[in-house]
Amino acid sequence: MTKILMMGAREDERRFAEKWAKDHNVTIEVSTDILSDDTYHLLNGYDGLSLQQTMGIPAEMYEKLSQDGFRQIAQRSAGVDMYDLKEAKKHGISITNVPAYSPNAIAEFTVASALNCLRHMQAIQKRVKNHNFSWDKSILAREVRSLTIGVMGTGRIGQITAQLFAAFGAKVIGYDVYQNPNAENYLTYIDSFDEFLAQSDLLTIHMPLTDDNYHQFNTETFNKMKPGAILLNPARGAIIDTKDLIAALDSGQISCCALDTYENEMPYVTKDWSGKTLNDPILEELINREDVLYTPHIAFYTETAVENLVFGGLDACLSILTNGTADTIVNP
Ligand code: NAD
Repeated sequence: MTKILMMGAREDERRFAEKWAKDHNVTIEVSTDILSDDTYHLLNGYDGLSLQQTMGIPAEMYEKLSQDGFRQIAQRSAGVDMYDLKEAKKHGISITNVPAYSPNAIAEFTVASALNCLRHMQAIQKRVKNHNFSWDKSILAREVRSLTIGVMGTGRIGQITAQLFAAFGAKVIGYDVYQNPNAENYLTYIDSFDEFLAQSDLLTIHMPLTDDNYHQFNTETFNKMKPGAILLNPARGAIIDTKDLIAALDSGQISCCALDTYENEMPYVTKDWSGKTLNDPILEELINREDVLYTPHIAFYTETAVENLVFGGLDACLSILTNGTADTIVNP
């Protein structure tokens, strides 16, 4: 029977892995360990690998994997930036990802974040905890249908986000380097980035991090946005210059932001840091501000998404083991 080792596994993945194993008549061992020099010995006796690395693997390991008969690594995420794709290919290791496990999960989280900002939920919760039940204009909300929502990046997630905001009755505009005709069912494209910035009451980012958009949202960009605009970033932290964002929040140019991603999140996400000091004053400030909703890269985290990630990773793994190929190879 085919044997697959599923590493870097969380407890919530186990029942999906067990179901998949039963349905496919495959033996799966679930391990919480990530793949490293120290854990390499665990691979002994397995045919296939399903991994969830956040850090890379040592460069020499691709050759070692190949010598030990492995032909694939099935990463259970969309991003594969932790791997050296060329080095893997050189040694005949196909890397697969799960490109679209549930765009709805991130889109729904985006809408939840927007509503939290618009309804001043953090401020209201703080007031209630202090037994302040009064109403005043600092917590007066705007309705989604009265807003122009700017969706930056109109791929899988951006399109569903646009659809959800359109269902609230908002005017939805989009900006993308490659415009997608399907997206025009829910939004109107704006060709000029500056015009897109100027029109958006709430701007939500749904594009990958590339060399071109590192710190694309900085003081200059913020100053082109509507005064008091809301900014959401459930994409990648380094798209925003966080220091500049804090200055824009201080000045009121940005009235509220929801950050599911932060440029220096790596040491902390996904660890339990309870009771320990953060060695990052910027992250500390984001957490403590009432006008920032910081969440630990968790927008994707729904039952449907986890199931699809486990199934997608294992499907790709088995496909390469049995057919020599898979639809989701990222280093063909
Ligand atoms: P996608 O590839 O389907 O769409 C991305 C879109 O961004 C494309 O239409 C592309 O043309 C556009 N784009 C690329 N560079 C751009 C630029 N410089 N300016 C404007 N548009 C640009 O990707 P997706 O599945 O919709 O995912 C979008 C992003 O969401 C991912 O890249 C990832 O960063 C993020 N993400 C976050 C989570 C989370 O849990 N927070 C989970 C999954 C994905």
